[in-house]
Amino acid sequence: MNKAHRKLILPGVIVFFITALVFLAPILPLADVREMSIPSRFAGPSASHWLGQDEFGRDVLARLIWGGRASLFIAVGSALAAAVIGTALGLLGGFFRGVVEVLTVRASEVILCLPLLLLALLVVAILGAGTWPLIIALTILYTPNYARVVYSATLQVRSLDYVTAQTAMGAHPMQILARTVLPNIMPPLLVQMSLVIASALVIESGLSFLGLGVVPPTPSWGLMIRAARGAMEQQPLLLIWPSLALAGTIFTFNLLCDRLQSVLDPRGITGGGAFWLRKNQRKTVENERVAEPSTDALLLVEDLSIVLGREGRDTELVRGVSFKVMPGETRAIVGESGSGKTLSGLALNGLLPDVLSINGGRALFSTREGAQVDLTRLDEDAFRSLRGREVSMVFQDAAAALNPVLRIGEQVGEAIRAHKEIDDAALDERIISLLRQVGLPDPERRVRSYPHELSGGQRQRAMIAVAVANEPRLLIADEPTTALDPTIQAQILDLFKTLMADTSGMGLIFVTHDLAVVSEIADRVTVMYAGEVVEEGPVADVFERPRHPYTAALIASVPEGDADRLIAIPGTVPTPKDLPPGCRFAPRCAHAIDACTTHSPEAEHPSLDRRTRCIRWKDVT
Ligand code: SF4
Repeated sequence: MNKAHRKLILPGVIVFFITALVFLAPILPLADVREMSIPSRFAGPSASHWLGQDEFGRDVLARLIWGGRASLFIAVGSALAAAVIGTALGLLGGFFRGVVEVLTVRASEVILCLPLLLLALLVVAILGAGTWPLIIALTILYTPNYARVVYSATLQVRSLDYVTAQTAMGAHPMQILARTVLPNIMPPLLVQMSLVIASALVIESGLSFLGLGVVPPTPSWGLMIRAARGAMEQQPLLLIWPSLALAGTIFTFNLLCDRLQSVLDPRGITGGGAFWLRKNQRKTVENERVAEPSTDALLLVEDLSIVLGREGRDTELVRGVSFKVMPGETRAIVGESGSGKTLSGLALNGLLPDVLSINGGRALFSTREGAQVDLTRLDEDAFRSLRGREVSMVFQDAAAALNPVLRIGEQVGEAIRAHKEIDDAALDERIISLLRQVGLPDPERRVRSYPHELSGGQRQRAMIAVAVANEPRLLIADEPTTALDPTIQAQILDLFKTLMADTSGMGLIFVTHDLAVVSEIADRVTVMYAGEVVEEGPVADVFERPRHPYTAALIASVPEGDADRLIAIPGTVPTPKDLPPGCRFAPRCAHAIDACTTHSPEAEHPSLDRRTRCIRWKDVT
């Protein structure tokens, strides 16, 4: 038991004691809460009446416990009902956005425009006083609070890499909501719950105090405070007992929820990224299935273009990208930040941010069944059936891509169950086998670990296990070694090589900025610059004799033991809005001539299996 768990014990025991006490009231040896004894009015504590007697001589301890039963039932009942409704509204609004957001979160927020107590008074005035009208009133009051909190937490969580990763595994949105988003918004939800229970206890007491809550002779803390107010001079203890009970209960619930938040949030989940799950990624989409394979390639990308913006003024981020991946081949896509390499990888898995769209080209993918589909024309439903099973993805930051509140084994299991029916025993066996395959030490024990309990390299191995759980035909790895130290990086590269050797026919697209990694792992390389492919060919050939000044400069910038030989490329990659005329590399190119800036160079073929976008490729060495 760790420190956070130990801190739960005290408030947990007190809440359990209070709850048990009030709900076991009917079977406890308490005095009758209605039995009056006028001669004993305002009597102080005694052996038979531990907390004294009230203005009608009734036993205060019995009324305090029975009163707590009514107050807690109303507060917890309304808090739970509001939590269920508000959470559903917030989750749907935050996850699906658009019209759904207006119909759920925004609609419920109308209630927030009205003062809380006034609204409660209005509802109780309409429905009448009593326990159930009070629960309904408080549920209506608190639902928008939950909806708001859950909505904003969902906005943060849905944009994290592990939610994107779930989509990449082909999970259904409802499954993502229930298994990934909901557990990750529990911390703020629990805090909200504690606040609502505390507030509901106060409002119940206030309404009962005003005679609009619990109906006498049923006791409640609010009614007890109301009655004690008129007897302050005769017996001040009558006010102290229910006030203490109310304050103590509120404090303990707050403490318990606060501690629960710490326990349920093992990694401190806050912050967000920028991805959103897209309905489709092409402006005009109709799912396209090409019945007759027109190529032997596993993937044939032709003239792929990606733009920023959906209407009118589009900014082209990726232009005319073409390459292919043969079965069993590793294709590296290399370039600096802003070259468009990651966007190209995301587009092939239907994971482009929703502000981007594909506006040209195609990406023919050969499925397991032998048909071909154009990945640029698939909608979200079609992609979901492919992701994980046919095309899968390994993300750069495994710590962000893995769900922090699910054990490693559960995450691998979810990826498998997203695509196949499998019994528990076979699933457990498969999970252990996968974790062993990716080299996770002691997989029988690690299967029960949370991501934060693993080292960086182990998390990346677990992420790879999730990605290959369904033996995809195409694996896209987006800078999977960038965040790792060199030793672990070498181990992960070895793992990719082993996976490629052991998995017949699987193609690998390895996105990286590191030429050393390219030389280590890839068969062919595509070099990208400012959204265009500038050179393409077999790795050994390209490294031996680059045919584009940018590739040559990249190779020259790789340190080779002697730091003096490192030659940095001058300047920076131009932004899409600030592209130079003609060749995009011209401002940084040592070979540039006037002709380079007057027209954009077309792809040329120095040899059968080489391509370069440079008019002076013959002069490049
Ligand atoms: S086309 Fe001209 S500017 Fe562009 S890479 Fe070739 S030589 Fe350099």
